[in-house]
Amino acid sequence: MASVLQRIDGKGYKAYQDLVGTYTFEQFTLHIDYVQPDPFANPSRMRVVIPRCAAKILPEWTDSAVRRTALTDFLARQVAAALAGRRGKGGGSGKSGLLEIDAPGQEVLLRTAVAIDEESIDIRLSAGLPAAGRRILARQAQKMLSDDLPAVIRQSVGSLNPRLVEEHLQLAENQQAIREYLRNHGLICFVNNGAILPRVSGVSNRSLPADRAVLFKSPPEMEVTISLPHGEPLCGMGIKTGITLIAGGGYHGKSTLLAAIERGVYNHVAGDGREYVITDETACKIRAEDGRRVEKVNISPFIANLPLGKDTTEFSSEDASGSTSQAANIMEMLEAGSRVLLMDEDTSATNFLIRDARMQSLVAKDKEPITPFIDKVRLLYEHKGVSTIMVLGGSGDYFDVADRVIMMDEYRPLDVTDQAQKVAAQIPCRRSAEGGCDFGEVTARIPARHSFQPRRGNKEKVEAKGLHTILYGTARSELAFVEQLVDASQTRSIARALKTLAERLADDQTPLSTLLDKLYAVIEQDGLEAISPYRGKHPGDLALPRRFEVAAAINRLQSLKIKVPKRDGP
Ligand code: ADP
Ligand code: MG
Repeated sequence: MASVLQRIDGKGYKAYQDLVGTYTFEQFTLHIDYVQPDPFANPSRMRVVIPRCAAKILPEWTDSAVRRTALTDFLARQVAAALAGRRGKGGGSGKSGLLEIDAPGQEVLLRTAVAIDEESIDIRLSAGLPAAGRRILARQAQKMLSDDLPAVIRQSVGSLNPRLVEEHLQLAENQQAIREYLRNHGLICFVNNGAILPRVSGVSNRSLPADRAVLFKSPPEMEVTISLPHGEPLCGMGIKTGITLIAGGGYHGKSTLLAAIERGVYNHVAGDGREYVITDETACKIRAEDGRRVEKVNISPFIANLPLGKDTTEFSSEDASGSTSQAANIMEMLEAGSRVLLMDEDTSATNFLIRDARMQSLVAKDKEPITPFIDKVRLLYEHKGVSTIMVLGGSGDYFDVADRVIMMDEYRPLDVTDQAQKVAAQIPCRRSAEGGCDFGEVTARIPARHSFQPRRGNKEKVEAKGLHTILYGTARSELAFVEQLVDASQTRSIARALKTLAERLADDQTPLSTLLDKLYAVIEQDGLEAISPYRGKHPGDLALPRRFEVAAAINRLQSLKIKVPKRDGP
C-alpha cells in the first residue's frame, strides 16, 4: 500500500483507483472494494476481514440466528464507538478523512455492517480518501489506513470483553423468550415493571433519565410473570388479544405508552428503557395520512356510497382524505398480514373513529359513506383474529366494544375495565351499530410488474434519501408517516427490495402478500446481502425492515399499478 500511495501522492484524485485491491496487515486483511471518483462523492468502501480466533470469538456466540444477529450488532457498536473516539482526521476537501461504519441505533436489527462465518469476521466500512481540493494527500491516507484503522480494530474487535458480549446475547435471548411467551399465552404485548417509556424529546429515540421518569408499573389485574433463560423472572403488564383502550386525561402518558408498544416490534439495547417492552411483530401503527396516494384498495368495509358513485372496492386517489387514508392504511396492513392494529386519537381522523348518537340522528346513514371503526373493531377481532390497542381520551362510546380499559393516571396505568363497564351500563351511548354482521373482505392485490421499473432516462435510480424517502425509477415513495420505520438503513433495504421485486419476483400474477413471503424467503436463504448490488463485496449499509414497512413503501410508490383480475361473468 505504501508504494502505491507514494506513487500517487499529489496526483489527481482519479489515481486513487490504483488502491483497489487486497492488503495484508498484521491482524487482518483489508479489501478496498470501491474507490470514490472524487472527494465529494459517496465514500469509498472497504472491508476488514479478521480471523475469528484473532478476535477470540467463541463458538457458542454464533450457534443460533438470534445470537448471530446480536453478536454482529455488538461488533458494529464496538467499531462505531472506537471510530467515534478517533482523533485527528486531518483536514482536506469533501469527505477527506472520514471513516465510518453503518452504526446501529437503539434497535438491534439484522444488518450487513458486520458479517461473521465459521472462519472470519467481515467489517464493512466507508472511507473518504483524503485530498486537498482534488489532489491526493497520500501521507494522510497512509496514516488513516495504516495507523488509525488498525488502532480502531485493536480497540474494538481486538479487545472484546467476553462478559459484555455474553450480556448482549443473553438480552437478545430473553427478548426472544418473551416473544415466544406472548405467542403461547394469547398475549400481544408485554411491558415490564421498571421500564422507562418516555424519550428525551419528540425527535429523539433515547430514554429520559430514570430520575426524571415515572417507571412503568403494571396494574395488578394485568400482571404476568415470565421466566427467562437468563436471570430472574420478569414481571410486567401483559395485554391480551382483543380490544384494549388506553384512556386517561391529556398529558398523562397515553401516547407515550402506545409509542413504546409500537416500537416493541423491535428489540432494543440494554439501557434503552424499553428493552423489555415486547410487542407482537405483526403489530402495525395506523394513522390518518391525508394527501397520500392510494392504489386500488378495497376500503369498502369502512367506506361505501361515496358521492358520484365512486367505487370503494378498488379505491384509488392521488390525494386521499384523513378518513379514506386511515381506512386504506388498515386494509393494506391487513393484506400484508398484520394481527394487531395500534391507533392513537392524536393521529386519527375523528370521523373515522366515531359517529355519536346525535350525529347519527342528524346525518342519515345513507348520507354518510363512513362506517366508523367503532362498528368494525369487534368484527375485526372476532372474524379475522385481529386485535386493536387504541389510545382514546375523547370518546367513552368505545367502552361498549372494549375488552379492557387501561387508564393512565399521572403516568401510571390502572385497569379500569370494571368501572368503564359500569359507566357504559349507567350511561348508554344510544348510538345504533352500523357495521353489519361481517367485517367485509380484505382483497389481495396483484402489483403490476412494470410498477417496479427502476430506470430514469437511461440511468437506473434506486435510492433512499434518509429515513423517509425512496427515489425509484421516475417515482418516489414518501414514508414520513410510516412510524415503525426506524433506521435509514432499513429504508435503503426497502429501495433494494423494490429492485429485487422487479428483477426476480413480480410477475403480474403474484399477490403482494405472496411477493413479500418470497422476498423474505430470499433473505432467509441468502442473507440480507442477497438484495444488495455489492453482494460478496461490500453490502455494508443495510438493515432488515419488516414486511409491513416494505408493503407501506410499495403502497405509497407513485408508480404502483394494481392489476385488476378479470372478473367472471355474472
Ligand atoms: P397524552 O398522550 O396522555 O396526552 P403523552 O404520552 O404525550 O400524554 O405524555 C405527555 C408528556 O409526559 C410527554 O412530554 C412525555 O414525554 C411525558 N411522559 C410520558 N410518560 C412519562 C413518564 N412515565 N415519566 C415522565 N414523563 C412522562
Ligand atoms: Mg396523546
